[in-house]
Amino acid sequence: RAERSLNFIEQIVDEDIAAGKNGGRVHTRFPPEPNGYLHIGHAKSICLNFGLADEYGGQTNLRFDDTNPVTEDTEYVDSIKNDVRWLGFEWENEFYASNYFEQIYQFAESLIQKGLAYVDDSTAEEIAAQKGTPTEPGRPSQYRDRSVDENLDLFRRMRAGDYPDGAKVLRAKVDMASPNMQLRDPIIYRIKHAHHHRTGDAWCIYPMYDFAHGQSDAIEHITHSLCTLEFEVHRPLYEWFIQKLDLFPSRQIEFARLNLTYTVMSKRKLKQLVEEKHVSGWDDPRMPTIAGIRRRGYTSASIREFCDRIGIAKRDNLIDVGLLEFCIREELNRTAPRLMAVLDEKPLKLVITNYELGREEIMQIENNPEDPSAGARDVPFSREVYIERDDFMENPPKKFFRLFPGGMVRLKGAYIIKCDEVVKDNAGEIIELRCSYIPESRSGSDTSGINVKGTIHWVSVPHAVEAEVRLYDRLFSVENPAADDPEGRPRDFKELINPNSLETVRAFVEPALVKATRSGSLTNVQFMRKGYFILDQDSTDALPVFNRTVTLKDGWAK
Ligand code: ATP
Ligand code: MG
Ligand code: MG
Repeated sequence: RAERSLNFIEQIVDEDIAAGKNGGRVHTRFPPEPNGYLHIGHAKSICLNFGLADEYGGQTNLRFDDTNPVTEDTEYVDSIKNDVRWLGFEWENEFYASNYFEQIYQFAESLIQKGLAYVDDSTAEEIAAQKGTPTEPGRPSQYRDRSVDENLDLFRRMRAGDYPDGAKVLRAKVDMASPNMQLRDPIIYRIKHAHHHRTGDAWCIYPMYDFAHGQSDAIEHITHSLCTLEFEVHRPLYEWFIQKLDLFPSRQIEFARLNLTYTVMSKRKLKQLVEEKHVSGWDDPRMPTIAGIRRRGYTSASIREFCDRIGIAKRDNLIDVGLLEFCIREELNRTAPRLMAVLDEKPLKLVITNYELGREEIMQIENNPEDPSAGARDVPFSREVYIERDDFMENPPKKFFRLFPGGMVRLKGAYIIKCDEVVKDNAGEIIELRCSYIPESRSGSDTSGINVKGTIHWVSVPHAVEAEVRLYDRLFSVENPAADDPEGRPRDFKELINPNSLETVRAFVEPALVKATRSGSLTNVQFMRKGYFILDQDSTDALPVFNRTVTLKDGWAK
């Protein structure tokens, strides 16, 4: 903590503690609505809420903000719990706003009794019209002056199910002339005859966000209620309820939501991508969901590191997804073993003519030069190896340090070879290269005295394992698909989907790779010169599948 300056939320918490508020207690909550999977924006909120409590020896509740029966589901509840744990956090209490329905209902009756809430029969359109515009005062509803008794009776009948959806609402009686539109008699209860995933059919009226969130904070004695900037204008209402209902004074603090380039971050839009099958599911590795990012090969440590680096801001901004990629790259550079894979459906076969037929050698290749403790592995070498088609050019330009006719190159961890002959089929396509190796050039005991500029990766043909490799790119082709077009017109974000966000290729990989990843002893790997990859859940015994997490920043020896 001493290493960096405090962010503005820590400063507020410090002031509160210094002022003796809440006996120095810090209690936060993470309040997802279970209507979708968590995304990287939520990760920021999770790291912030849990991180703050950790820092001050406090606690964090996981609270499901499940006040909308129509959009919520237990599938989402389970995925959210799983994702929070995976990110490395454990909550103090698991709570549900729906557990407070009776208490929140009583708060509403108490407001009515104080003359601070009324039942309104106006339609949604009429209520919107009454609210007017920010520059002029609103108009009171004709139902605003109903008596306490009439309001109580109507509200109880709303609860009893006497009215259809939309027939009536309960509104807080705040101030129809307030310059803050949120205070112009906001709706706090609505009728919804819908089955709730936890309370079943017990209720047919449900509290609105503004009459559930702060009330839940108060019930749980949350000291600091952190939310995103769009709720800043709701804060006066949050505080009005605390005052009028004499609730525990939780303090709402707003911070900037995380937006990332080349993706969208609203659950509604993500859900559309899933439902309209633009992606394979919530955990499609191109999705900004925690489940997608995890499947893509990101570690929880890299996500926490990312959230740490972006910090806490008071203004909305758009963070370059390159920073997220940087965080995982930096980690995997240190931790991921480097193996060889030839990503080519029709790789180039190289026949080493002076290497005896049937001979095999085991090469010891170090797993990670950044990490000596990672040791070495056995890599079989034989007379025939596959290389990338790109690593050979028949007519190379100057400074091409890979293979060309008459040229020499080192096969990584093995021998220096020379290209003697190019074999083509009738159509003129190169089908193999006939080469010779320098026996004295074996890696580790090279006495050949030959210096070659290029080193390329390879896989022994008889030992190669075929795999499917999924090369992911950005899901959208523009930086901010949620923004309007340059002329200020709204755009359909789905028209901005990158048509080339997934390329599936066949590959030939080292046998050790498949063995180790399948046994679970290896998760993230580097394919030398190609990028970082992870075994995907779609793998079968016949065909392992690898997802590209991120490309390498720089290839070596290119
Ligand atoms: P979405 O717009 O994606 O549906 P939401 O805010 O409606 O998000 P909730 O489930 O209500 O989703 O969010 C739970 C918590 O996560 C809230 O406290 C919310 O402020 C926070 N959160 C959501 N999105 C972001 C984001 N992009 N950056 C930071 N915090 C976020
Ligand atoms: Mg929300
Ligand atoms: Mg939302």
